[in-house]
Amino acid sequence: MGQQITVTGMVLSAMPIGEYDKRLVILTKERGKLSAFAKGVRRQNSPDAAASQPFIFGTFTLYEGRTSYTVQQVEVQNYFDGLRRDLEMIYHASYFCELADDLTREYNDEKNILLLLYQTLRALMRGVVPAPLIRAIYEIKALAYYGQAMEVFSCVKCGSQEALAVFDSEAGGMLCGECKGAAGAPIPVSDSTLYTLQFILGSSLEKLYSFRVSEQVMAQLKAITAQYCCRYVDKRQKSLDFLEQMDGKA
Ligand SMILES: [Zn+2]
Repeated sequence: MGQQITVTGMVLSAMPIGEYDKRLVILTKERGKLSAFAKGVRRQNSPDAAASQPFIFGTFTLYEGRTSYTVQQVEVQNYFDGLRRDLEMIYHASYFCELADDLTREYNDEKNILLLLYQTLRALMRGVVPAPLIRAIYEIKALAYYGQAMEVFSCVKCGSQEALAVFDSEAGGMLCGECKGAAGAPIPVSDSTLYTLQFILGSSLEKLYSFRVSEQVMAQLKAITAQYCCRYVDKRQKSLDFLEQMDGKA
């Protein structure tokens, strides 16, 4: 016999199944990432249609069967509706959810990534911090919670905290002026960019989305995160295609 459980979490994706159902992937506080069937939510006038979409954050009552979960009730706390009105926001939010999906597992403690994702979607919706900066911050922090933090406080080779000069993903972070010759693909890092990286990795979630950066810092952050994700994220997210098409048009 199965049993009922209640979890708090966010819907990362919602795939249509059969004629009327959906399969939701939910990142939860209690059980890590899980997937659950939402039956009948694609029927016309289904009262649960709005609660069975990506970005929904709330409390889910699930029936735990032998091999799968079925959604019985959803109490939505945040629909993140504002995100759905703007293509740039939808593309970014979809990518953030897809990356979270790829970095998390069932029965793992994924509270940090869930909280990060929640704060990130809120920042995106507020619109004060530009979306490309939000993306860089999210990638750096999500990979740190995943166990793959970049070293930006001292040289990965000699441990020196002085004269940190270049970033190299292969090495795992910053290299100082003396050691930079060992870098496979060094990216030059200015003092402001280094300070930004240190702030992102050292800051609490509440303060994470509280600053903006110059164009030069943004360009360096973009190069660093692109190289780092390519090295440490196993697969490429499909939603990146949309983001890149949009970048191309801009
Ligand atoms: Zn060094």
